[in-house]
Amino acid sequence: KEGLKKTRDKMSSSVESMLNSFTTIDESLFEELEELLVMGDVGVSTAEHVCKELRRKVKEKGVTDPNEIMGMLQETVAEMLRGGEELHIGTKPSVILVIGVNGAGKTTTIGKIASRLTKDGKKVILGAADTFRAAAIEQLEVWAQRAGTEMIKQAEGSDPASVVFDTIAAAKARNADVMICDTAGRLHNKKNLMEELAKISRVIDRELPGADKEVLLVLDATTGQNAVNQAREFQAAAGITGIVLTKLDGTARGGVVLAIRESLGIPVKFIGVGEQVDDLQPFNADEFAEALFD
Ligand code: GDP
Repeated sequence: KEGLKKTRDKMSSSVESMLNSFTTIDESLFEELEELLVMGDVGVSTAEHVCKELRRKVKEKGVTDPNEIMGMLQETVAEMLRGGEELHIGTKPSVILVIGVNGAGKTTTIGKIASRLTKDGKKVILGAADTFRAAAIEQLEVWAQRAGTEMIKQAEGSDPASVVFDTIAAAKARNADVMICDTAGRLHNKKNLMEELAKISRVIDRELPGADKEVLLVLDATTGQNAVNQAREFQAAAGITGIVLTKLDGTARGGVVLAIRESLGIPVKFIGVGEQVDDLQPFNADEFAEALFD
């Protein structure tokens, strides 16, 4: 919870002091609130939506006390974020494909998820399909050792889809519950990267038809609204099923979660709140909404 607390300090204190400066609820309160939400990375259209919802509730319930706005705001935000948080990894083996730009926290997140699932008694296999950087393979190997899971790799520069193919074969042979694949995140050749991700997806669909497949996009919360653009691009290439928002322990403003949910309809499944193996929390809409403004 430490990590979330810092996020909370950002928007909450400003919203709170703004609300305290009002004695009655009027239009300028909503205007100021909208502005604060935009500054908190919620995004313009989402901030408008939130305030519209709030106005409606205030009217419907006949609320006149500005002090009641905070609770209503949290409730509204939680409603927007709720649903779809859980991982669907029932079939054996099921697949978690992890995508995102370099530096977002993919490798770290894979390590954390692998460790989590292993602790839950699941047999996990990792696939080092970011073959573009040797360092990426080595780094994932460290996490694999830490989590006590096997990792499938090929030489640097080999075909990522081929690594995924090998990982599927290994997962089947070892009777693994879940395979988690890393992918490249270089942005300088986007078209190429998106084609690579599409090819990996085709291999999975062909080799494991009907398998549960999560495509998790890892986003660095400190990139703010940029994260929304990244999500949009990856969504087109890879059909994202969930978001992992990392670095919420830093100076990040978690408001971007709302913008992503609102504009792309993708649920957040996990949040990263530090660099250590246990610094990954399943996303909880109510807790998150509360933490944003409490
Ligand atoms: P990748 O390039 O996407 O695989 O990113 P990495 O997993 O290598 O992470 C990039 C950097 O971000 C590393 O220094 C990680 O320790 C750090 N990192 C990842 N997740 C978090 C997080 O939730 N909080 C913090 N503070 N750092 C993180």
